[in-house]
Amino acid sequence: MAHSTYPKLLSPLDLGFTTLKNRVIMGSMHTMLEDIPGGIDRLAAFYAERARGQVGLIVTGGIAPNLAGRALPIGHAMDNEEEAEKHRTVTKAVHDEGGKICMQILHVGRYGYSEHNVSASDTKAPISPFPARALTTEEVEQTIVDYVQSARMAQHAHYDGIEIMGSEGYLINQFIVTKINRREDQWGGEYEARIQFPLEIIRRTRAAVGENFIIIYRLSMIDLVKGGSTWEEVIQLAKEVEKAGATIINTGIGWHESRVPTIGTVVPKGGFAWVTKRMMGEVNIPLIATNRINMPDVAEQVLADGCADMVSMARPFLADPQLVQKAIENRPEEINTCIACNQACLDHTFSMQVCSCIVNPRACHETELNYTVAETKKKIAIVGAGPAGLEAALGAAKRGYEVYLYEASNRIGGQFNMAKEIPGKEEYGQTIRYYSTMLAKHNVNVYLNTKANVDLLCKGRFDDIILATGVTPRRVTFEGSDHKNVLTYADVLRDKKPVGKRVAIIGSGGIGFDVAEYLSHDSSHPSVSLDVADYMKEWGVDMQYNQAGALAENGAEPLPSPREIYLLKRSKGKHGKNLGKTTGWIHRSSLAMKKVNMLAEVSYQKMDNQGLHITVGEENRILEVDNIIICAGQEPLNDLHDGLVAAGQTVHMIGGAHIAKELDAKKAIKEAMELVIKL
Ligand code: NAP
Ligand code: SF4
Repeated sequence: MAHSTYPKLLSPLDLGFTTLKNRVIMGSMHTMLEDIPGGIDRLAAFYAERARGQVGLIVTGGIAPNLAGRALPIGHAMDNEEEAEKHRTVTKAVHDEGGKICMQILHVGRYGYSEHNVSASDTKAPISPFPARALTTEEVEQTIVDYVQSARMAQHAHYDGIEIMGSEGYLINQFIVTKINRREDQWGGEYEARIQFPLEIIRRTRAAVGENFIIIYRLSMIDLVKGGSTWEEVIQLAKEVEKAGATIINTGIGWHESRVPTIGTVVPKGGFAWVTKRMMGEVNIPLIATNRINMPDVAEQVLADGCADMVSMARPFLADPQLVQKAIENRPEEINTCIACNQACLDHTFSMQVCSCIVNPRACHETELNYTVAETKKKIAIVGAGPAGLEAALGAAKRGYEVYLYEASNRIGGQFNMAKEIPGKEEYGQTIRYYSTMLAKHNVNVYLNTKANVDLLCKGRFDDIILATGVTPRRVTFEGSDHKNVLTYADVLRDKKPVGKRVAIIGSGGIGFDVAEYLSHDSSHPSVSLDVADYMKEWGVDMQYNQAGALAENGAEPLPSPREIYLLKRSKGKHGKNLGKTTGWIHRSSLAMKKVNMLAEVSYQKMDNQGLHITVGEENRILEVDNIIICAGQEPLNDLHDGLVAAGQTVHMIGGAHIAKELDAKKAIKEAMELVIKL
């Protein structure tokens, strides 16, 4: 039985950009707009903009088939016509732009944040504080009915299809593996029986929705947890999924509780496409590759290497809704690239805030944040070409203003120039490339090596002056803190001053962690980022898939750090607790693998030729280090402000120049956008 209603997907490989429209889907991202009052209209605007940007097929964020399947006790389930009719706003908006959209059905099972969690058996997920109880046999049957009803309601809402979420450790996975499913009814036992739960959902859904409805099944091709599926089991499931009536199989990589990073910035680009490639030829329906495919060239390579029939990108469409269009028009250098930081997307979703994007604050705010062309022309000066200044300059130019951007150093990018030096964070350089291209395209006058002063700015007769002068590293003072071996993080990352084999880092915020990461890699290596095989070895993934779950028998095999590193802080508690919600564990694990020594409750006594003298709790210690690197936060750099105000200028401050505390690019770029919209 042929179920494909999407024949273009099956066309022979033609790797020109013009095919990308039909070969790239926008993968599922939960935005939180699904769950807030008025969110549906914003969701419609969000997806419509992506459809206008030429993406062929969109998959929505996960929507529960019933109340028990919701991630949070708030939110909706797609279980009735009234709910379905609300979604017609979304489907119409996408169809009006010539796009197609499928609704993802997601039952979170034991991953829910609720005391009503359910699963295949009594269990508790390591990533939820709430235990889950086993569904009764009748409830399993009802859950299948709910999936089918949800698919029918998606059809009623005019979706083009559904995606059944069968990966990332959610309910369907929980039925498939024995480590969770210990049932004694017909839904437990042998593998053949355990996979009947998803298969029955697909079979009955196909029967209910008819032939002309896309059913994507997201199949966990590599669980990356102990007790996960074997490769033979994964193939068996894929074949059965095809037989049951799926149109397309999408790839799921790792469960959320896995301790192998699968989407973080440390993951090599296209780093998991090899998993989908193993499945090529095993089934006759199209396969989609996923994870860390963030630019057209990566997508093209994945397709050219025969890894998949299509690729899915999710976060890259937050960063740039026009990604496909720019690729089709051969303008990839204009793409605002997803840098895989998770800071404004997944970190937001997992802390119940509306999702957005660090490099594109308009994402999920399309109805609110827009640069309209101004009626009155203005002449604007911007001082500082870090992320805040760059966005301000680009935004002002888009509004039709005459823009002058002054930068004291010899390059644009500010702190991103240091971030891109960190192993695994090279992508930050893409943001600089994007702004560089766009400033030229929008005729911004850029003056490098120009330290703007009050005189220059007054003579320029600007209507508005925006100070985006950024920050300066905070100095710390103790006996010997002016010793020649004491460096700042800027000395190390920006000026490349040599660092010895034994190092103490003072301050363990984001930058302390970054510097520890930088120093724990061998900089003589031509590329400090790892290739795919090295990455899998470093994090303990068995590419031969000899083990169930594909975890290497010997565990992780990290490359040793070339240095002995101490990461120090004065406060109590765990290091890095303020790092990103979804990425902090990666940074902590990475440094633990490199055997970085983390000391808390440290007070700094003095630095001399012996090393750094500290007290840890009650104990006096001497760390015999060659260098100390100060990563103790920043102070604002805003010394132009008062002089300009005194001279009667209209001055605005954004980014770190305004408030250095908890500075990050997310806040800086958003502040710039919000200011320029109002200018
Ligand atoms: P930060 O997060 O404020 O951390 C500064 C560190 O310095 C703290 O650990 C603090 O710890 C210590 N400190 C502060 N004042 C000190 C003093 N007078 N003497 C000695 N130690 C002092 O600043 P940051 O690391 O520079 O990061 C700046 C911003 O960039 C943050 O918002 C951060 O989130 C963001 N960022 C994030 C990442 C990431 O998530 N991977 C990476 C880079 C930057 P104690 O007070 O305990 O000593
Ligand atoms: Fe990508 Fe970061 Fe934007 Fe998320 S916030 S979409 S990871 S650039």
